Amino acid sequence: MSKDETKEFLDSLPELKKGESYCFKCYPGISCFNECCGDLNLVMTPYDVLRLRRHLEMASRDFVHVHCETSVMPDTRFPVMRLRMTDNAKRSCPFVRTEGCSVYPDRPGACRTYPLGRATRPNDDGGVEEQFFVVREPHCRGFEEPDEWTSEEWLKDQGFEVYVRFNDRYMDLLARFKETGKQLPDQMVQMVVLALYQLDDFRGMIENMRVFDRFEVDGERRKAVMEDDEATLEFAYDWLELMLFRSCENLKPKM
Ligand code: SF4
Ligand code: SF4
Repeated sequence: MSKDETKEFLDSLPELKKGESYCFKCYPGISCFNECCGDLNLVMTPYDVLRLRRHLEMASRDFVHVHCETSVMPDTRFPVMRLRMTDNAKRSCPFVRTEGCSVYPDRPGACRTYPLGRATRPNDDGGVEEQFFVVREPHCRGFEEPDEWTSEEWLKDQGFEVYVRFNDRYMDLLARFKETGKQLPDQMVQMVVLALYQLDDFRGMIENMRVFDRFEVDGERRKAVMEDDEATLEFAYDWLELMLFRSCENLKPKM
């Protein structure tokens, strides 16, 4: 689904307003267990890839090769990564097992928010306004359970808060680039893939191009960028902001 199709889909669902609640529980033993973990169009954000690749202890290039289907958005040509489903009759997720999700602590954000859909748009204060929708699929028996949740409680319970920070930065980058009406040239498509989805190779590029010699980056941040995936991804967002919009508050060229 493109971002516009996703918005259309979410708009067709009942909205869960702030403070409103819904009943839901998912657990091993429920009659529909694992039924939702297949035939998915699961778009992975850069932070999803970071968490999954680290969980699987794979080189990022290998992770992308084995687990991702890469395409570009038709309007902006921004690269999109989808989780490659297994080639069986159910098109199962590669990580689903009889006992449940084998990557549970690092499962993608979309698996965490389910059965909620989250839509965001920039607000006038430079922040993000969010809306939630309840996705009631007929096979899902979780809605028959008595446990009650507001969207806030559900996302906290599912460990989604850290995803918000990284995913919203990603969505902001996409939205700002879309506003320019431009399309990414091939070279920039490769750069976005490298910076956002291949963090270990991106670190290699930082070293080879001596990026730290050309920009104001203090010693503590340099160390973190070279050692810590989250810091590398933050730097990648800054780097792309600079490449795409010619300026970035957090990354200034040396005078
Ligand atoms: S279909 Fe619903 S209740 Fe069943 S396993 Fe999936 S999320 Fe849980
Ligand atoms: S990552 Fe885990 S929760 Fe998400 S679809 Fe795959 S098995 Fe299910």
